[in-house]
Amino acid sequence: MEGRLERLRLLFDDAGFDCMLVTKAENVRYLCGFRGSSGAALVTLDESILITDGRYREQASRETTDWDVRIHTSGIAEAVAKMVPRNTRCGFEVTVSFELYRRLVDSAGDSFSLDPVEGAVESLRALKDSGEIQLMKAAIQCASAAFEEASGMFAEGAVERRLAAELDYRMVLAGADGPAFDTVVASGPNSSLPHSPLTDRRLEAGDLVVVDFGAVKDGYRSDTTRTLLINSSGTDDVRKSEALSAVKAAREAALEALTPGVKALNVDAAARDRLAELGLVEHFTHSLGHGVGLETHEKPTLSAVSDDTLEPGMVFTIEPGVYIEGLGGVRIEDIVLMTPDGPEILT
Ligand code: ZN
Ligand code: ZN
Repeated sequence: MEGRLERLRLLFDDAGFDCMLVTKAENVRYLCGFRGSSGAALVTLDESILITDGRYREQASRETTDWDVRIHTSGIAEAVAKMVPRNTRCGFEVTVSFELYRRLVDSAGDSFSLDPVEGAVESLRALKDSGEIQLMKAAIQCASAAFEEASGMFAEGAVERRLAAELDYRMVLAGADGPAFDTVVASGPNSSLPHSPLTDRRLEAGDLVVVDFGAVKDGYRSDTTRTLLINSSGTDDVRKSEALSAVKAAREAALEALTPGVKALNVDAAARDRLAELGLVEHFTHSLGHGVGLETHEKPTLSAVSDDTLEPGMVFTIEPGVYIEGLGGVRIEDIVLMTPDGPEILT
C-alpha cells in the first residue's frame, strides 16, 4: 500500500480538489486493503478515513493500517457529508451509483461542492508494484496449473459445461479464491463467438475449441486463452490450421512491437497489419488487449483508439483472435508485464 495515498494526493492539485471520496470497491481495496463489500474511502490532504458499516468493524481494522475507520449507522452519504470540511471541493468517482450520488448531493447541501473524477485511482492502478506483480503471478499459477491438469480432458465427447467446471474446480484446488470470470469453453460452431456462453455441446473431431479462463487470488486476477484443434483430419483442416498460425503470427507481431513507452494503438496496429497481410483482418473483431489486476479489464487499453502508452510496470493481455462463422474461432491470450527491457510473458 505504500505510496498509494501520496500518489493520489498528487492528483488533487491539478484537479483542484481538497479531498476525494473513493467508492469503487477495487479502488478502496487498492488504497487501504479493505476487502469488504460496503465501504468508502475519504482522502483529504492530511486524513484517510474508511467509512463502513457495523458488519465490517473488526474486518476493517484488521485489513487496514493507519486508516481512521468509522462506522456509519444511517448511510455512507450522510456520514461522508459530516466529515468533508466546509467550503471545500470534494472529488467523487463517476462510477458511483446514481442513488448514492443523489444522497451525497442532498447531504452536502451548500456545505461543500462535489466534482466528478474519472479514472484517478484506476490510473495509479495501471502501474503495478512488485507486491502486486507477485500476486498476479500467483493467480496466473493457479490458472495454468488447472489448465495443465485438465488439458487431457479436452477430447471428443467431452461436454463444454463440464470442462469449464473442471477448470474452475482445479483453480480453487490450486489455491485460487475462484475463477476471475465465467470460464469460456467454446467448441466447434460456438468458437466463432468471442464470448460464447457455455452449452452442453460435446466436442467433436475437427473442432476448434477456445478456452478462456482466469483465476482470482487475493483480489488479483489472471486471464488466459488457449485454442485447441481436436483430433482433426477433416476437409476444413487447412483453413483451421491457417487461422491458428495467423493468430500466432499476429501475437508475434504484437510482442515485437512491445517496447517500453510504445503507444498502445501501435501495438494493436502491428497485430492487425499482420492479419491483414494474411487476409484475415476483417475477422479480428475486438481490441488487442487490456490491463489486468484487481479487475479483469482495467487500464491500459490496447486498441486502435487508445490514448495509453505502455510503461514499465504495466500488466496487460495480448489477445489477437479471428472468428469465422461456419469454420470456428481462434484466440490466443497471454498476460505480459512491461519491463524496462521489454515485455515479459507471465502466462
Ligand atoms: Zn480472456
Ligand atoms: Zn482478456
